[in-house]
Amino acid sequence: MNELILLKLGELVLKGLNRHTFEERLCGNIRRRIHPYGKFLVTSKQSTIYVEPLNDSCDLDGAFNACRYIFGIVALSKAHPCEKNKEAILETARTYLKDQLEAAHTFKVESKRADKNFPMTSIQLSQWVGGELDDLFPNLTADMHHPELVVNVEVREKAAYVHGNPEQGAGGLPVSINGVGVSLLSGGIDSPVSTYMMAKRGLALDLVHFFSPPYTSQQAKEKVIELAQLLTPYTGRTMLHIVPFTKIQEEIRKNCPEEYFTLIMRRFMMRIAGSIAGRIGAGCIVTGECLGQVASQTMEAMRSTEDVCELPVFRPLIGMDKEEIVTISRRIGTFGTSILPYEDCCTVFTPRHPKTHPALEEVRAAEAALDADALVAEALAGTEKLRLKPQ
Ligand code: ATP
Ligand code: MG
Repeated sequence: MNELILLKLGELVLKGLNRHTFEERLCGNIRRRIHPYGKFLVTSKQSTIYVEPLNDSCDLDGAFNACRYIFGIVALSKAHPCEKNKEAILETARTYLKDQLEAAHTFKVESKRADKNFPMTSIQLSQWVGGELDDLFPNLTADMHHPELVVNVEVREKAAYVHGNPEQGAGGLPVSINGVGVSLLSGGIDSPVSTYMMAKRGLALDLVHFFSPPYTSQQAKEKVIELAQLLTPYTGRTMLHIVPFTKIQEEIRKNCPEEYFTLIMRRFMMRIAGSIAGRIGAGCIVTGECLGQVASQTMEAMRSTEDVCELPVFRPLIGMDKEEIVTISRRIGTFGTSILPYEDCCTVFTPRHPKTHPALEEVRAAEAALDADALVAEALAGTEKLRLKPQ
């Protein structure tokens, strides 16, 4: 019997009748993500997903690492299966967890018994294995409350499984369980975090980036591709739509009052995102906006950008401080790329005195000279699509 991976489901288990669908979706996501690491059998039973290698060429560590990023999993461990008798369980714990048992000072054994035919109760099994390990490893003292090491024993249908302290999983809900959305990805700190947060709530996301050559450079574009790539362990397979935005920005500059430039530009972003959402069957738009962070993130400004879009706009960062956003950005590994100093199309043609509390009618009037439909159609026609998957 070979080492395998045990994954514990999170919120999923609360979902009652839908639970089966949820588990199936999560198993599907897992299968797709660990596919590059060999042939595995992925099955789910009693709030646990078993990932079993089917031959010796499987890269179990690679698969384990991929699972760290999969939403819907709260805890993960590598485990060793063994025969369902107490001696085999003890021997597996002694050898499989040897390094951990030697390194720890305090420990306890925690047993779960799904197979009610097993001749000992969970408590009896824990006490017996714990007593034997205590004798075998003189460095160890039992501690029922705050042990350094928990030796977990799970007696299940096919076998018993032994593992040490589980690792915390990515949490959240399986990607795609809540449908599809379009996330606006700039090169900044915020939008990679908002993308991560909504993927974590079970959305499958297509990403949209607007770029304005020659005002924005090739490096700025590559930075966004890099950010999108860094998000793929969380989002899974994703499509990055790179939309040419120069013409729209030039037309705005030529035809609209300067104080409304940013607002009108953002309305075009929303129109285009809405069209892309329509094409791919998405039901919402996600942005990295945060109340009061900049002039275009007041409630009046947000109302004026939402005006052109029928779908709900999700802004998961709306009530967060920059510090909190930065903390997540560092944790998910996008911060270092986000702070590379390349310009974003939002920072070209910025008005000297942006309108911060615009009345909706004023904004509509300010862009009246533009042929919005034609400009949107042209931008969509020039859009480049990049298919990305976790590397
Ligand atoms: P970020 O750090 O995400 O760039 P920001 O604080 O710089 O955010 P804005 O520039 O006002 O804020 O942008 C607000 C949101 O609009 C961004 O979080 C992102 O969702 C979207 N956005 C801005 N610029 C672009 C762009 N070039 N392409 C796609 N989306 C964009
Ligand atoms: Mg920005």
